[in-house]
Amino acid sequence: MALTVYRTIADMRVQVAAWKANGLRVGLVPTMGALHAGHLSLVSEIAPHCDRIITSIFINPTQFAAHEDLGAYPRDEAADLIALQATKTDCVFAPEVSEMYPDGFTTAIKLDGPALDLETNNRPHFFSGVVLIVNKLLSQSQTDVAIFGEKDYQQLLVIRRMVRDLDLPVKILSGPIIREADGLAMSSRNVYLTDAQRAIAAKLNGILKTLAKSQDDRETAEAQAHDALLQAGFTSVDYATIRDAETLAAPTAATTSRRALVVARLGDVRLLDNMKAR
Ligand code: AMP
Repeated sequence: MALTVYRTIADMRVQVAAWKANGLRVGLVPTMGALHAGHLSLVSEIAPHCDRIITSIFINPTQFAAHEDLGAYPRDEAADLIALQATKTDCVFAPEVSEMYPDGFTTAIKLDGPALDLETNNRPHFFSGVVLIVNKLLSQSQTDVAIFGEKDYQQLLVIRRMVRDLDLPVKILSGPIIREADGLAMSSRNVYLTDAQRAIAAKLNGILKTLAKSQDDRETAEAQAHDALLQAGFTSVDYATIRDAETLAAPTAATTSRRALVVARLGDVRLLDNMKAR
């Protein structure tokens, strides 16, 4: 049987309310479509934590700046639905932009803490768009649990903080980064890479690993990673850094867990990767 696709908030809510009335726990997997094995893994990861799963597909315009790739962002709903059919997803929520942002929409959430620095230096508009849409999806669906990928590590921390600060009654889970055979983190934007760029992209994960394991002092390790990325052929480096894994501030004596995070560009394509650091 084909997966049911809900286009309106009201229809999706009727389904969730029916499940909840039967005492079922409901989970949400938010995506922007162009689904790959990384997205599908989140469905498998959330499955043990709930009885029913909604996967949302919505390319959120408020997280794209005017010069970014909103118009060109890959879309293939038919292929996404076929891929989801083979997972434990029970239904899909795929609203139009006008359903999510009706005329006259003005509300925003002001961010601080882990939303500062890193991605925000390069995409100042990005997290305000992300927390807005995630907040809306969570309050629309009223799910008990939702899952986000460690691939977007800063995003995961920003969402956890938003949920905590705004007392949203939802448990946030995270899923590990799913990679291609050569280590490149899967991303919907990898389709933009030419063959030559794809070969360079394969080197990102190795350079990140060296940074994450480095015994050198932090500044030296970061500078080496930066140089290695440029040597490998990346066009530019947005950041290659080791941070406190909880706050994303510079590690201090109180830091108990560190994260290495790298973003490098090949032409216009930004490639993100991160891992636990020593
Ligand atoms: P997106 O469609 O890119 O907004 O991603 C939707 C969700 O999938 C986010 O929680 C991402 O962090 C997660 N995700 C994207 N790529 C991967 C990956 N390679 N492995 C695991 N999760 C991922």
